[in-house]
Amino acid sequence: MYAFKDDLSATLQQIRDDGLWKDERQLTSPQQAHITTTRTSAINFCANNYLGLADHPDVLAAASSALREWGFGMASVRFICGTQEQHTRLEGALSDWFGTQDTILYSSCFDANGGVFEVLFGEDDAIISDELNHASLIDGIRLSKAARYRYRNADMADLRAQLEAAKGARRTVVVTDGVFSMDGYLAPLAEICDLAEEFGAMVLVDDSHAVGFIGEGGGGTPEACGVADRVDLLTGTLGKALGGASGGYVAGPAEVVALLRQRSRPYLFSNAVAPVVAAGSLEAIRIARGSNEARATLRRNTALFRELMTEAGFELLPGDHPITPVMFPGEDGARQASQIADAMLEHGVYVIAFSYPVVPKGRARIRVQLSAAHSEEDVRTCVAAFVAARTEVLGEG
Ligand SMILES: *Cc1c(COP(=O)(O)O)cnc(C)c1O
Repeated sequence: MYAFKDDLSATLQQIRDDGLWKDERQLTSPQQAHITTTRTSAINFCANNYLGLADHPDVLAAASSALREWGFGMASVRFICGTQEQHTRLEGALSDWFGTQDTILYSSCFDANGGVFEVLFGEDDAIISDELNHASLIDGIRLSKAARYRYRNADMADLRAQLEAAKGARRTVVVTDGVFSMDGYLAPLAEICDLAEEFGAMVLVDDSHAVGFIGEGGGGTPEACGVADRVDLLTGTLGKALGGASGGYVAGPAEVVALLRQRSRPYLFSNAVAPVVAAGSLEAIRIARGSNEARATLRRNTALFRELMTEAGFELLPGDHPITPVMFPGEDGARQASQIADAMLEHGVYVIAFSYPVVPKGRARIRVQLSAAHSEEDVRTCVAAFVAARTEVLGEG
């Protein structure tokens, strides 16, 4: 036992020595544009609260009335006695939005991705996955007995090569994040759908970082890329833009959803989503669908931030997703990014630095996430904090 604990201590020390230790700051407020932590108050630029629904009064009202009407917990998986009318309505609301035949709800998108591949793809099949796909897709794909192929991030020549290599499989599926969360880049879904069609493959998109706010009507990356009717399977989370509580889903053909309900292990063997969360999410979806104005505000905030940061001489990755990476390249970048992020908190702006192994070596960054809940003043304050922190840390203007 002593040796075991000593081993773990050494591993923990190694994580610290490598500069990879993740501390958790405790919020003393709800999730919102302006938060307080145990140390300070700050404007939050690192939440996935893209539409500001995490503390929206109508979401809170729906959740709190559900608490009285439907109770606190289900104490059951869905198929035993864990399905209420609202679970079914929530699944229906998602299908209606995405234009899919059906949707199945999971406790999280991690579970959705963990439960979808094993059921649908067996040893005669092939799964072709973007190298930057989310950890939950990688894990879910591992659980399947299908042959696995990987292509370089958004590289269509390499995808074609992998599709060639996978020829002869019974079923082939191309799997991609809709948006790659470290860069804010959209997957080239139109090209992916073209290639998949050419090879008779299906397409699965995990749209967690897009659903609700990307695309004119918030339908996500497929809508933005004009391929909503060509993506076969969608997965996503309710834990980001859509209220930010918890829950995930797989949306697609009726037969897929029906089979997942019979066979998908995280669905069969894990508790039903809590009634409060189902009700709040349902209201969040209703609001999000009608939130063209909030989406316009989000785009405006993102554009303003990009414009002011570029003027101030910062290097940004190109794009227009509210994930806006501010780059600190080179050998010293990881240290610079983390010191600047720390200094910004003293200026009342909460952002987080990312470095290796979350992003490639020499590509450290502060990932800023805009929200429709930010005011123009908030965005300007964020830029001013970047400028001030840069001077403090690097001694330049
Ligand atoms: C956040 C995220 C998930 C995990 O979603 P949860 O519902 O929190 O489990 C899965 N996939 C992608 C692409 C994500 O960004």
